[in-house]
Amino acid sequence: MAGMDDPQNEMSYEQIEVPDEGEAITAEGEGLSVPETPVIPIIYGDGIGVDVAPAAQTVLEAAANATGNDISWMRVYAGEHARERYGEEVHLPEETVSAIRDYRVAIKGPLTTPVGAGFRSLNVALRKKLDLYANVRPTYHIDGVPSPVKNPGQMDMVTFRENTEDVYAGIEFEAGTDEVEKLKRFVEEEMGARDVIHDGPVGIGVKPITEYGSKRLVRRAIDYALEHDRESVTLIHKGNIMKFTEGAFRDWGYEVAEEEYGDEVITEDTLWEERDGDAPEGSVVVNDRIADNMLQQVLTRTDEYDVLATMNLNGDYISDACGAQIGGLGIAPGANFGDLRCLAEPVHGSAPKYAGQDKVNPTAMILSGRIMLEYLGWEEAASLVREAVEATISEKTVTYDLHRQIDGGEKVATSEFAEAIVANIETLA
Ligand code: NAD
Repeated sequence: MAGMDDPQNEMSYEQIEVPDEGEAITAEGEGLSVPETPVIPIIYGDGIGVDVAPAAQTVLEAAANATGNDISWMRVYAGEHARERYGEEVHLPEETVSAIRDYRVAIKGPLTTPVGAGFRSLNVALRKKLDLYANVRPTYHIDGVPSPVKNPGQMDMVTFRENTEDVYAGIEFEAGTDEVEKLKRFVEEEMGARDVIHDGPVGIGVKPITEYGSKRLVRRAIDYALEHDRESVTLIHKGNIMKFTEGAFRDWGYEVAEEEYGDEVITEDTLWEERDGDAPEGSVVVNDRIADNMLQQVLTRTDEYDVLATMNLNGDYISDACGAQIGGLGIAPGANFGDLRCLAEPVHGSAPKYAGQDKVNPTAMILSGRIMLEYLGWEEAASLVREAVEATISEKTVTYDLHRQIDGGEKVATSEFAEAIVANIETLA
């Protein structure tokens, strides 16, 4: 198998069919070199993945075609489909990880994670194995989508959630094991934290927050804000309670802001202490907020926030809270980024009860694909996708989840909704 820096069509895999058409995306200096027809790996995923992934393929392909490009899809497998092909114990085949690494830009549907027992999250494993350290979720309202708030149009935030550390790092020990008892003894006897942990069975998790992990995430958020003319980046943390983890994240974030960007970036303190609130033209203001307060502020002062940067767990909560305001899970898109790598994926899960019914809303997966197109530098195709989704929903051609919340309109299947979007792409192009 070819190494990660030697992609091209000579790559071969056991169970993955490399398409004849298209070429691999490669790294070129600090950017990507994207051929006219890139090969893009796709994981359909579990549950409703079989419904939303093909719908997204149809729409993304149509947008690429309408703007002079094409996409050569390469099916790769994880979850249920991997177990069918590779054997019962194989949830995430190594060659799936290699293919995404080799081809650099990919898209996936949702993957089921059993609660409690069973295997660990495949999503977390993929992000860690590929070092996709930034989970990026743009949250904006699409005209016509029902929302529980009065002014959903005010919501236009992009969350940067650190993806590789925090309590998600997987350093967690089960009650009753030798490991947990050893760790408890170490914490109590060697680290002096006595009378803190109650007697009896205990599970213990470790929360690593590194300077490296924090700084690269905040850097990415600031770069994004500068590139997309955003006004502010807000560091979200519980540093008042967890001083040396979440507090350190905030301090390292400010260090990046103060040391790496010159006049382009200004902290909120400097802005008020030295400039009376008058930010330099085109600059980005970096501020910070405590996480619990921020969960209120995204609701009560929605238009004051822009780009959010935070650790893994806070990011999980805050991006779902933002997502609820713009119509919920069927709509909310996301993507994971590493250095010159992207794996787009919707925020929602595999919703097993609707699997294979051609019923659910594919918008989240389609708009995740839009982020991917933008990353390829296909701005025109990306805009077409967004406009066509907006046009389709505004015409009230919607799947069941939106249909039950709006007056009138036509309830369509997942595949029909995708076809309606394609028709709008053709009209708009
Ligand atoms: P879920 O997102 O799968 O479903 C919750 C509910 O949201 C569904 O019952 C449905 O009513 C609605 N919903 C979700 N997607 C929708 C869509 N596209 N259109 C219309 N309605 C939609 O969340 P869950 O039930 O908590 O999780 C199910 C499984 O998915 C779990 O195993 C979980 O671990 C996994 N999961 C995976 C990912 C991922 O792959 N990134 C993310 C979240 C959850």
